[in-house]
Amino acid sequence: EVNASGEEMPTYIVGTEAQFPPFEIVDSRGKVVGFDVDLLNAIAEDQGFKVQYLDQDFAGLIPALQTGNIDIIASGMTITEEREQEVDFSEPYITAGLALAVPINNEEIQSVADLQGKTVAVQTGSTGFMKAEELKEAGVIAEIKDFPHVNEAIEELKIGGADVMINDLPVTEAFIAAQPDVIKIVGEPLNSESYGFAVRTGNTELLQKINTGLENVKASGEYDELLTNLPKY
Ligand code: GLN
Repeated sequence: EVNASGEEMPTYIVGTEAQFPPFEIVDSRGKVVGFDVDLLNAIAEDQGFKVQYLDQDFAGLIPALQTGNIDIIASGMTITEEREQEVDFSEPYITAGLALAVPINNEEIQSVADLQGKTVAVQTGSTGFMKAEELKEAGVIAEIKDFPHVNEAIEELKIGGADVMINDLPVTEAFIAAQPDVIKIVGEPLNSESYGFAVRTGNTELLQKINTGLENVKASGEYDELLTNLPKY
């Protein structure tokens, strides 16, 4: 297949941890769908490249990018200074932030001020994990239990193995929408974070395509359309 410039369309391998609704989730047919996927597909269409998704653990995404197993990370990944040392990020494409969630019947924890001596469940390698480490070093929380997937952290809350989960607010909301009687969000968001697509450091050609495509998809109104049609999980 050739693109608008008459060149053979390149295919880029996209790493994603597809248990992170509404950004990426595997549908009933086994296909990876979600806002990140829709958005990157639209960018790919605009820029004349093809994408192939590879579902893998979040903590392995940056190493996979660095070794060349994947070309792009599209996985609700927050742009952070630490990660900027390891990968190059696109322009931010959406804003999220961390929030606390507790078992549905917990009335004790309302905010970070109530986390003294508590056990926190988080996703391995996530910004929630980093926040938990910060709170542990500060002598606030007692223990961190980390899991490859958010649903496993939620499960830990459910069985009483952890008191609280720190995770991206829209994602916790999506899990709650699917299963309303297990956990609840408490307090205000802990911060504000921006997600970016990541490419290998120095891969300016691909980064340029992603950034230009993102601009075009925003300008055309397609971005807003995708946001209003988030997948139901
Ligand atoms: N936004 C969070 C981070 O970048 C979590 C991402 C994820 O688990 N997919 O660490």
